Amino acid sequence: MILHIDMDAFFAAIEQRDNPVLRSKPVVISGNSERSVVSTASYEARLFGIHSAMPVFKAKQKCPKLLIVPGTMKKYQRDSLKIMEIISHFSPLMEQVSIDEAYVDIKGCERLFGSPEEIGHTIKKKIKDDLSLTCSVGIAPIKFLAKIASDMNKPDGLTYIKEHQVKNFIFTLPIKKVLGIGQSAMKKMELLQIKTLGDVKKYPLPILTQKFGKLGQRLLALSNGIDSSRVNTNYIRKSISSETTLAKDIFDFETIKQVILDKSQSVGRDLRKKNLVCENVFIKLKFADFSQITRSKKLETPICSSSAIFHKALALYEKILLKKKIRLVGVGVTALKDKNTPVQMQLIQDQNMPKEQWESVDNAVDSISEKFGSDIIKKASLNNLTRNNAGENPHDE
Ligand SMILES: [Mg+2]
Repeated sequence: MILHIDMDAFFAAIEQRDNPVLRSKPVVISGNSERSVVSTASYEARLFGIHSAMPVFKAKQKCPKLLIVPGTMKKYQRDSLKIMEIISHFSPLMEQVSIDEAYVDIKGCERLFGSPEEIGHTIKKKIKDDLSLTCSVGIAPIKFLAKIASDMNKPDGLTYIKEHQVKNFIFTLPIKKVLGIGQSAMKKMELLQIKTLGDVKKYPLPILTQKFGKLGQRLLALSNGIDSSRVNTNYIRKSISSETTLAKDIFDFETIKQVILDKSQSVGRDLRKKNLVCENVFIKLKFADFSQITRSKKLETPICSSSAIFHKALALYEKILLKKKIRLVGVGVTALKDKNTPVQMQLIQDQNMPKEQWESVDNAVDSISEKFGSDIIKKASLNNLTRNNAGENPHDE
């Protein structure tokens, strides 16, 4: 299953979020010269027939009250980065196609995050919670259909084309919805009475290739539900985390502390293996009622030792006032950097053990894990904690 996630009126939505004066008003992002064109139109502006690439003077004719806002690309890029980070959490198979659009192949991720629909809703909610922005999600077994689906219920939509619906969906899909068909090809389609993708099948391949060249071949394949394009992973994850669902929901401080230690070791090991350091540590707790919180701490100096990660994570944990039993514990690091960039290494805040000693512990632990797998050095007290490993998913994001 492939998800296509597309932010709704991205630039305009960001400006409306950040400036109350612009909310619920027709807004376009654009330059303000005679020659400028609309970059993004808010949904309120779209009601006047204003759309991207329309000359601004024309947009003003359509809506004299139109508010024109110059873009702040840096801000959009910053938000884009946050959004891509959120999406990348759900699958390593992710392809960012533009500043506000990405495909993600969720094959094999269902056990961790639920059904495709649940994953879609979770992504939408996370983006809404973290950035106060809406997106539309399309889900389909075929890449080109996922993109069409995300466009079907904009804004704030979620459209799921299930396997058994594909055939009928393709049959009735208006041909103009298929990407990559130019105007001249579209005219020929009209002459041939091709109105839907299903209509393409009325013609044999030789005629289609004669009329449309390679496009004809592609359209025939698509009309048969065949799309050879895959999700091309081009996104480099910017965080590493590890989490565990506990065998039973617990309240006990010491036990949670042990799990945080275990997760910190796993994250630290991953970080060192990739020759990275981090400047941000976070913890994630999921409670018995499935609500969850994350807490993070930006660090003054980058770290990579398991003990430093553990101490930061523990400090975050200690600040949380526990009211409910804990179901899942996660530790992660973000703001990753190459270890070879000159840094002043973190001084370990552990009075009992000097920094050098911790480094040698890390080295020893890493080399044992390398040889025998990471389970071998797990603390004995952790052995009964994990829920038959189903919830254990060390992964880097
Ligand atoms: Mg968009």
